[in-house]
Amino acid sequence: MEKSAERIIEDLEEGLKYYSLLGVEFIELPSSSQETDYLSLKEQILNCQKCPLAQARKNAVPGEGDLETELMFVGEAPGRDEDIQGKPFVGRAGQLLTKIINAMHFQREEVYITNLIKCRPPDNRTPHADEIEKCKGYLLEQLEMIKPKVVVTLGKVASDFFVPNRLGMSALRGNFYEYGRIQVMPTFHPSYLVRNEPNKMLKKMVWEDMKKVMAFLGKK
Ligand code: SF4
Repeated sequence: MEKSAERIIEDLEEGLKYYSLLGVEFIELPSSSQETDYLSLKEQILNCQKCPLAQARKNAVPGEGDLETELMFVGEAPGRDEDIQGKPFVGRAGQLLTKIINAMHFQREEVYITNLIKCRPPDNRTPHADEIEKCKGYLLEQLEMIKPKVVVTLGKVASDFFVPNRLGMSALRGNFYEYGRIQVMPTFHPSYLVRNEPNKMLKKMVWEDMKKVMAFLGKK
């Protein structure tokens, strides 16, 4: 016969009293297998030497956020601030991304943020095809673990990975594309918006794209 929730709680309380009588002050619960797999993947990325970008980096930047989220943001590669701090999107472009996420009625911690490649290319150059090839497995594993409903790709390089084609960002953005079970929404990279600050039209277009994502996720 199945135990009721009350009965389970009573049994747990009894068990905890027993351990407390024995002088046990805390019990370490096993972490979920998703969390264990994630920590192991993070460790692999932090120590990765698969491509030459490992030589010049200060920190690899695996990504951060909620592993249960429906919404993931994928940029191109870490920049200078991200390389120093080991966190994704923490510079000016990152602050703008956080504002966009908040405007979508999410907290930054409620989504997952990462990049296509995990180490900074020198002088923020575009990642080479062979670097993407060597690194892409990490992103694919993150997608497999997190299973987001929507991935917002930030900029051409990340968008090309999910939606390979010859279209420029202006033509590509604003539409959903299927990537397996994931809906991919390409939009402009926040650093492009920062570099083109006076062009308010760009921000408006990104906001139009994000409203489509909100509508898809039933976010008001
Ligand atoms: S960019 Fe990716 S493949 Fe290259 S060293 Fe960093 S984590 Fe490894």
